[in-house]
Amino acid sequence: MSAPFDRAMTGEVDGELGQEWAVSPQAGDEERVVESALRPHSLTEFIGQPKVSRQLALVLEGAKRRGRPPDHVLLSGPPGLGKTSLALIIGSELGTSVKITSGPAIERSGDLAAMLSNLGAGDVLFIDEIHRIARPAEELLYMAMEDFRVDVVVGKGPGATAIPLEINPFTLVGATTRAGLLTGPLRDRFGFVGQMEFYEPAELQEVLARSAALLGVDLTEAGSAEIAGRSRGTPRIANRLLRRVRDYAEVEADGRVTREVAQAALALYDVDHLGLDRLDRAVLEALVLRFGGGPVGVSTLAVAVGEEPTTVEEVCEPFLVRAGLLARTPRGRVATEAAWRHLGQPVPRGGIPLGRVTTDPPAPGSSSEALFDA
Ligand code: ADP
Repeated sequence: MSAPFDRAMTGEVDGELGQEWAVSPQAGDEERVVESALRPHSLTEFIGQPKVSRQLALVLEGAKRRGRPPDHVLLSGPPGLGKTSLALIIGSELGTSVKITSGPAIERSGDLAAMLSNLGAGDVLFIDEIHRIARPAEELLYMAMEDFRVDVVVGKGPGATAIPLEINPFTLVGATTRAGLLTGPLRDRFGFVGQMEFYEPAELQEVLARSAALLGVDLTEAGSAEIAGRSRGTPRIANRLLRRVRDYAEVEADGRVTREVAQAALALYDVDHLGLDRLDRAVLEALVLRFGGGPVGVSTLAVAVGEEPTTVEEVCEPFLVRAGLLARTPRGRVATEAAWRHLGQPVPRGGIPLGRVTTDPPAPGSSSEALFDA
């Protein structure tokens, strides 16, 4: 129906970043089309995220038994971890249809009112990047979520009147990469909040095995381990690297993805054994070689690598922090000992001025929203 649905479907939501970097967690337009072929269709097909998966299964089963739509669901976590996939799975597990839109696409509350009044009984409304929804639309959403009712304002100025409109009971599934930016009243209206975690290498290997089977790629165990290790804990990146490695295997080898083929292909695409790409390494090199390990402000760092500060902050840093290579301190960015070692540089005598920051990489899966909200 209205424009917002269409816009979200084309994947404009995530902007351009996805097309440029092999290890960007964002998806470009073309990639979204490929991705839809690889999406799991049921909770049993959905790999990893044991906690969210199990809790969600209970929520859905309870709702089915009661014959009522389940509580509204908020899925939070970094891009590429399966939030959209889960929203679609919720729809298919409930046997209802899913309407998709995104926060930035809902500019006016009228757009949202139209969407809500078009929902069928029990439908799922998926709003991606829900923290970016315009404030008037958000206020309209409160009443819709709570009472399945919206006030449609007719007219302008002092003569405007609000006409209450009943809507069908529905389930809102909101996804956010920045849970910290969600307002309290909106967050409180979700009955279930699922915090998505980065995937373990073994889980990514399962994702890769499944995708390889769907794409008809001959992927060996060692080849899959090589790709999984460089995928930054993110299924979207794992699937993308698999496609790049497959191309290489078909053109430069016999089509089989072995460890050697994966290594050669990923070297060609500038993805190193930790999953760092050229820009990540440029940031680390600037920090270590030009600024003596820091502390240095993010804007200075961005100028040094010829990038926008937001790119450095949102694309490179979350992973560098998670990998234990970079620390954010009140005085600026600092390279950890692991960063010096990763670049093959001798760690400076006297240690690193990190204060209380640890140089150990955090346990896999322990990355938190804080990294993304910092
Ligand atoms: P998000 O909405 O969090 O950005 P998506 O749901 O769009 O992430 O997932 C990105 C891609 O990763 C999809 O193509 C999907 O097939 C794949 N994917 C994500 N999570 C899983 C999973 N648990 N099992 C299998 N594939 C997954």
